[in-house]
Amino acid sequence: MTEYLAAVDIGGTNIRASVASIDGIHSKVKQDVMRVGDENTVPRQVDNLIAEACKDAGIDKKRISGVGISTCGPFDDNPRGKYELVVAPNICEGIARKEGRNNDWTGFPLRDYLSQSYERVEAGNDCTTAVNAEHMFGAGRGYDVVAYMTISTGIGGGVKSHGKLVLGRRNAGHFGHHKVVPNGRICGCGIRGHLEAHAAGPAIAAIYEEIMNRKIEVVDPKDKPKYVFDQFRRGDFVARRVISEAAGYIAQTLANVSADHDVQAFIFGGSMWNDKDVLQPLIEERFAECVHPTLGKDVAFKTAELEDRLGDIAALTMVLPADWVGAWQKTQPWQKPLETRVIKD
Ligand SMILES: [Zn+2]
Repeated sequence: MTEYLAAVDIGGTNIRASVASIDGIHSKVKQDVMRVGDENTVPRQVDNLIAEACKDAGIDKKRISGVGISTCGPFDDNPRGKYELVVAPNICEGIARKEGRNNDWTGFPLRDYLSQSYERVEAGNDCTTAVNAEHMFGAGRGYDVVAYMTISTGIGGGVKSHGKLVLGRRNAGHFGHHKVVPNGRICGCGIRGHLEAHAAGPAIAAIYEEIMNRKIEVVDPKDKPKYVFDQFRRGDFVARRVISEAAGYIAQTLANVSADHDVQAFIFGGSMWNDKDVLQPLIEERFAECVHPTLGKDVAFKTAELEDRLGDIAALTMVLPADWVGAWQKTQPWQKPLETRVIKD
């Protein structure tokens, strides 16, 4: 009998669920994250979305043998359950509270809830699942030790070494929280001098604005980092300084990761990697200055290949059987267009 798996991708704004078999991906649905209710609100929503995806695929939900989850993190202990709590700040209190949409949970017991209905449930944070997917199907194929770094509004990462994800207790790979500047800028986590506070997109824009003593004027504030990169290309001295420093901090962090894991290939993604023409040469140059020469030998710097199509594939890799991996490397089912059904509240 055909085996079916479900993939769930939980982001800050919406949740996507899909159903797949070895033959490919059969259905996709998505819905905005529910932010009001009790701690089981999101787990219940995930279960409902799997049911909706099963309906579209024409199968009974009971036939799902495994659920792979990719979620924004981090994870924390759950004193009342067997598995971890997802304590993602933009779904739990914090951002939702700031938006005036109260919710009553500070973490949600996703795996505990879903394990009541499904035989196998595995979850990873979105960078952990990304490194897994890139290693199986993307830019990391053929390497034994790969690290993924996303540079965007935040900076995250994941490491896979000799077929195994490096998870630590559960939150390994938080590259954005390497300390790079003593008493530096304050990070979202509350500690000073972390990479994210000095080299992520918003940091680059803020540092540029501070030095120039003026606001960057763009229609969408999200485009501010891009403006600084454009200024870099125009030869703006301040933009050059700000971005070179950020690239230096990123390189320093990558050298630390190399010292720990002896990485063969670094794979980069995230919105700031769209400016890789500027960023990559600077990072590579500074990396060579930071890393132990033996550890820095023959290290590849690559661009993520699955980026836009990553979500469900990344989630699914958490439960993907070995024979599917081989089959999917050939058939590449994520390339086939499949409409996502949007479910309204
Ligand atoms: Zn931090």
